[in-house]
Amino acid sequence: MKYIFVAGGVMSSVGKGVAAASIGKVLQARGLAVTAIKIDPYVNVDAGTMNPTEHGEVYVLDDGTECDQDMGNYERFLDLDFSRANYMTTGSVYLEVITRERNLGFGGRCVHVVPDIPLEVIKKINLAGKKKQADVVIIEIGGTIGDYQNVLFLEAVRLLKFKKPEDVLLALVSYIPSLGSGGNELKTKPTQHAVRSLNSVGLRPDFVFGRAAVPLDEKRKEKLEFMCGLEKGSVISAPDVQNIYQIPLNFEKDELGSKILKKLGLRSRVTDLTGWRKLERTVRTASRTADIAIVGKYFGTGNFVLTDSYISVLEAIKHACYANAALPKFSWVDSEQFEKDPKKLRELARYSGIVVPGGFGSRGVEGIIRVVEYARKHKIPYLGLCYGMQLAVVEFARHVAGLKSAHTTEIDSETPHPVIDILPEQREKLARKDYGGSMRLGAYPAVLQAKSIAHMAYSKNKKDAQSKSLKHGNKPSALSGMLISERHRHRYEVNPDYIEKIEKAGGVFSGRSPDRRLMEIFELPRSKHPFFLGTQFHPEFKSRPLSPHPLFVEFIKASIKKRAG
Ligand code: GLN
Repeated sequence: MKYIFVAGGVMSSVGKGVAAASIGKVLQARGLAVTAIKIDPYVNVDAGTMNPTEHGEVYVLDDGTECDQDMGNYERFLDLDFSRANYMTTGSVYLEVITRERNLGFGGRCVHVVPDIPLEVIKKINLAGKKKQADVVIIEIGGTIGDYQNVLFLEAVRLLKFKKPEDVLLALVSYIPSLGSGGNELKTKPTQHAVRSLNSVGLRPDFVFGRAAVPLDEKRKEKLEFMCGLEKGSVISAPDVQNIYQIPLNFEKDELGSKILKKLGLRSRVTDLTGWRKLERTVRTASRTADIAIVGKYFGTGNFVLTDSYISVLEAIKHACYANAALPKFSWVDSEQFEKDPKKLRELARYSGIVVPGGFGSRGVEGIIRVVEYARKHKIPYLGLCYGMQLAVVEFARHVAGLKSAHTTEIDSETPHPVIDILPEQREKLARKDYGGSMRLGAYPAVLQAKSIAHMAYSKNKKDAQSKSLKHGNKPSALSGMLISERHRHRYEVNPDYIEKIEKAGGVFSGRSPDRRLMEIFELPRSKHPFFLGTQFHPEFKSRPLSPHPLFVEFIKASIKKRAG
C-alpha cells in the first residue's frame, strides 16, 4: 500500500480537498484502487454538532458518520462510498486512545502524546486502506502548515515516511498570491515559508501544488524547486477553474499521474479519463440554463458561507444540469421577505425551478410554506429536501387537505394537526439531551410505489436504484416495489396518523420504509403538477458527476421545460 498525504500551505480554503480528490482521480484513471481519508484537526469527535454556517455543510455517509464536506468531494470525484474509517479528528483519535487506556489496552505502560497519538493515526490509515484494498491511500490533513493543531498528524507523516520512504509521498497545496495591476505577478515567497515550516518538523514535500489565479509559468516553478530543494517537475499548476471537475484534467497537463507512479515505483498504465473529458466538453458547450432558486431562511452574508453550507445540493444540481446539457444559475432567496410582503412571491415566477434544502428551526418557515404554496399553484418545478419535504407536507395539509394550522412539532408543539412529528424513540433521546444520538442518520432503504414520479425517475437509472447498503437486512426480493437506499439526517417524520387524510386529498407518498411506517417521498401526480416532489432523505449526498441523482435529473428536466415553455 502506498500513501499520499496532502497538506495546505499559506492559508485555508484554497481547495485542498478538491486537489486531494483530484490526485485520487488521476490515479484511479490509471487503474489503481484508491481510497481517501480526511483528518480534521479539531477536538469535536465528528462534525455532527457543528454549525454549518460556520464550518460548511455537515456531510453524511452511508453508515451515518457526520463529517466534513471534503468527504463529499472524495465520494463525488472517486465515485466511492466511504465510512467512518475514512474520517478522523483529533477528538476521535484521542477518544480511541483514552478509551483503550481505560480498558487496560496498553498493558500498564505510560501512554504518551508522541508517539502514541501519531501511531494511532497511522493504524487508522492502514485500517481504512485495507478495508478498501487500496493500492494508494490519499490522506488530507486539515488546517494549514504552521498551525499548532496539526503537528501530531505531520508527525505521523514523518514516522511513516521514516519507516517506508519509498511508499509515502507528501503533497503541499499552497497559495501563490498575485500582485501588480494586472494581478499576474505571482509571488512564491509565502509558499517558500510554508515549505520551511514543513522542514522544521522534519518533512520535505514531494510535490507542491501552486494554487493561483492563473497557471504557474516555468520560471515560477523553477524558482520554487530551487528555493525549496524540490526535484525537477515537482511543482504542479493548480489554477482557478470554472468547474472543479476540470481539475484532474489540469493536473494531467502537468503529467501528474506519471510523476506519482514513478516516485512510488508503480507500473505506468494507460490513463482513462474519457468520461471526465466528455463532462468537461459538456460544461463548455452547454447552451441551456436552469434558473434555480434556493429558498430558505436568511443564508448569511457573502457567497462563501452560502456555497459551503449547501455544497452537496449545489453539486447535485450541477450534475443534473450537465446531464441535461445545461448550466445552472443559482439565486439565493430569503424566505423571510415573503412573510413581510407576500406580494413578492410573484417574483418567483421567473425561476425555472425551486429547491428548499434541509434546515432546522423556525426562522423563515412561514415564508417557505408560502413559497411551496406558490410553486404548487403556479406549477413551478419544486424539489424539497428533508425540511423542504416536511414543509411541503405541512403546506398541503393546511391548504388542500383542510387541516388548518397543521404544522411540524419542531416549530409548534401545540398544533392541533401535528402532521410532522418526532418519533417516540427520538423523543426519549432528546429528553436525555442526547442531541448527537437523537437524529436518524445514514442510509436506510425505501420502497417506491409503482408508476409514481419517483419510481419512474429511479427506474431510468437502475444502477442507482440498486440498494448498496441496507441496514435492516431486508432483501430486495422480499419486497414488492423497487428498493432504494438513501442517506438521512433528521429528527422529525411525517405523522402516520395523517397519511390517509393527505392521500385522500390527492397527495402521494411514493416512497416508504419497508415496514411502511416512515414516509420517505411525497409527490403530486403528474396530472396535477409538472414536478412537485420532496424527500425525507438527502439525495444530494449520493449524486456523482458522471452518475447524477435521478430525482435531481428529473427536476432539472422539468425546470428546463418550464423555462423553454
Ligand atoms: N429539522 C428537520 C428535522 O430534524 C429537518 C432536518 C433536515 O432538513 N436535515 O427533521
